[in-house]
Amino acid sequence: MVAHDNRKADLIEWATANKEHLAQHDLIATGTTGKLLEQMLGVPVKRVLSGPLGGDQQLGAMIATGDIDVMIFFWDPMEAQPHDSDVKALLRLGVAWNIPMAMDRATADFLMTSPYMKSEYEADVPDYTGYLSRGIHT
Ligand code: PGA
Repeated sequence: MVAHDNRKADLIEWATANKEHLAQHDLIATGTTGKLLEQMLGVPVKRVLSGPLGGDQQLGAMIATGDIDVMIFFWDPMEAQPHDSDVKALLRLGVAWNIPMAMDRATADFLMTSPYMKSEYEADVPDYTGYLSRGIHT
């Protein structure tokens, strides 16, 4: 879970309304977002670094290694961030690894009420073998 500063209140409000459901999952968040969520929800939240200090990149790496299944990321559509390149990289990896991502409350509501949240769901990871076989990447 991640929220830019102008979206933190929104995320906290949404998370409070979904507290019981969220408490059933292992929560991971960027530094400040995680601290706020832990305080407000009273549930443990694993924290990586603050987004602008590398937290977004840490989350991206965890998506790539299969350690994050779902991302709730309330990013700010009105203000540029100093780490916009990291934000873009994180969102790119979410798509590359085909994980569900909610970036606003409506989508977060749809996601949390999906039957897939209560059952096993194997996301198809796109086949990148053609890409790899070009020999550029290993
Ligand atoms: P923060 O980072 O939770 O530490 O504020 C979020 C971000 O700005 O990416």
